[in-house]
Amino acid sequence: MSLIDDELIKVASLLGEDEAVKIVRSLVKLKEATDDAIANDTGVRINIVRKVLYKLYDKTLVACTRIRDEKTGWYIFYWKLQPDQLDAFVRSRKKRTVEKLRTRLEYENAHNFFVCNKCGDIRLPFEEAIESAFRCSKCNSQLTDSDNSKIVDELSKMIQKLESELME
Ligand SMILES: [Zn+2]
Repeated sequence: MSLIDDELIKVASLLGEDEAVKIVRSLVKLKEATDDAIANDTGVRINIVRKVLYKLYDKTLVACTRIRDEKTGWYIFYWKLQPDQLDAFVRSRKKRTVEKLRTRLEYENAHNFFVCNKCGDIRLPFEEAIESAFRCSKCNSQLTDSDNSKIVDELSKMIQKLESELME
């Protein structure tokens, strides 16, 4: 299996359908196939196969050819992967992720944070903590300041990694 196919399978898993990976693998193998053929090959139910194909089509990761069956007059759809579209798709996803991470990093850098040591899910920036006089809104315990340098570090690393991948 080539690198491109590996990437496609990664993308399939990003689509959030468990069966997408099987379907993409099947298309790699069959090259061009009808939804029936893919369903037979994978054992995935036909309605799921169609749903995944439409999602991939929507992202232009698969192309579709329509052929009219001479006997029945029905149209038959043949699906195939478009690996050349993959790179653009992956890049745009990465760019969006970098933007989100940057926003988060700016937020982390711009604030001091206070946490409740009893409730794991209470974390407020200074501006909000001061409004409640540094008391937890759930249990009324004293909030304590928390060091976010680890978070900042991790965010920075993730951004660096993605940016270097985008430079390739
Ligand atoms: Zn609390």
